[in-house]
Amino acid sequence: MIESIRARQILDSRGNPTVECEIRTKKGIARASVPSGASTGSFEALELRDNEKAFRGKGVLKAVENINKVIAPKLVGKDPTKQRELDGIMLKLDNSPNKSKLGANAIVAVSLALARAGSLLKEKQLFEYLAELSEAKEMFLPVPQMNVLNGGKHAGLKNDIQEHMIMPIKFESYSEALQAGCEIYYILKDMLKQKFGARATLLADEGGFVPPIENVSERLELIDKAIEEAGYKGRVYMALDSAASEFFYENTYVLGEEELNSGQMIDFYKGLVESFPIFSIEDGLAEEDWQGWQELTSKLGSKVQIVGDDLLVTNVERIRKAIELKACNALLLKVNQIGTLSEAIDAAKLAFQNNWQVVVSHRSGETCDPFIASLVVGIGAKQCKFGAPARSERNAKYNQLLRIEEILKEQGKARYAGKFL
Ligand code: PEP
Ligand code: MG
Repeated sequence: MIESIRARQILDSRGNPTVECEIRTKKGIARASVPSGASTGSFEALELRDNEKAFRGKGVLKAVENINKVIAPKLVGKDPTKQRELDGIMLKLDNSPNKSKLGANAIVAVSLALARAGSLLKEKQLFEYLAELSEAKEMFLPVPQMNVLNGGKHAGLKNDIQEHMIMPIKFESYSEALQAGCEIYYILKDMLKQKFGARATLLADEGGFVPPIENVSERLELIDKAIEEAGYKGRVYMALDSAASEFFYENTYVLGEEELNSGQMIDFYKGLVESFPIFSIEDGLAEEDWQGWQELTSKLGSKVQIVGDDLLVTNVERIRKAIELKACNALLLKVNQIGTLSEAIDAAKLAFQNNWQVVVSHRSGETCDPFIASLVVGIGAKQCKFGAPARSERNAKYNQLLRIEEILKEQGKARYAGKFL
């Protein structure tokens, strides 16, 4: 039974306020906090900000008050293991299409804390509890997509590809894959220091470097060299997140000095895929360019994973549309895009039913809450995206996966997803 619910304002990795929620039961306190995007999709649930003088408008005291004064009185006394029912109570209380009344940041903080409280009461590991909640049929240690070169909004740049990632796929275990990712990251750092000086090794929002290289092929060449020098050629692949909605202006994509239409963007990706071992392209096109997405998937989808992030916003209606239109073949899952754990689980289930891959993702603004590490294993997804292996808000998640790997190994159930992609 929930004895009390209490929320507060804390800081995220960019120094912006965010919401933390604590739920007390007889088994102790369950806590969860909320991440925040920079390249947010227009169709995401609303992140409620105070828009007052404090923190330049970014305060979240209204969301905190919505938890303490509106949500708490309705949930105290209830059984936190009834996740779907309690998420439903919050949805009813909000009763808006995009959670604008209470704020998705208020609702998601409670929703995640409820799951932690439920796992404590049932004396289960969070990932095991989430596997029960989501009725997952299998469990894997996920392949990480590690964002080693940051660009776009996360690096303070405009009209730029946002994420250049490595995917250590061909490994026996998660810990070996993580180690390979780290070793490549160190070599990349050395290469950048040698080529451009120490400033090029400073870190952007997701822990990746921001070298003074505008050309995407040159960036990928550098990563390719680092993979080779680390001794992992053929075992580590690459992934991109273009976050293309950020550089889409009235039917035109503006990348650096170049102006491209959808078809030309698709040709650009085709060229990259022919030159580099690219496994995955996320948000290669803008969130409203459905026709472009259809063409991208029909042209490259059999060779490359085509991931919808801003396109889908973890929303079952948009996922259904994308399935119907064959607009992509993988879901990027971010719980705060939709606002409750139950809805995020529904999104994952719909994706799995249609043989899509699911990539559980952090946000560019994060806290040290490792919830999503348990989530990716619990729902049976095979990939995660937690940034570079640097900065503690990113490594909190990678490290939690190491702990989960240890537990699953002891049970003889540790399977690295690299072999099953
Ligand atoms: C992304 O676009 O996948 C991402 C993690 O960025 P943000 O959190 O800024 O939306
Ligand atoms: Mg994205």
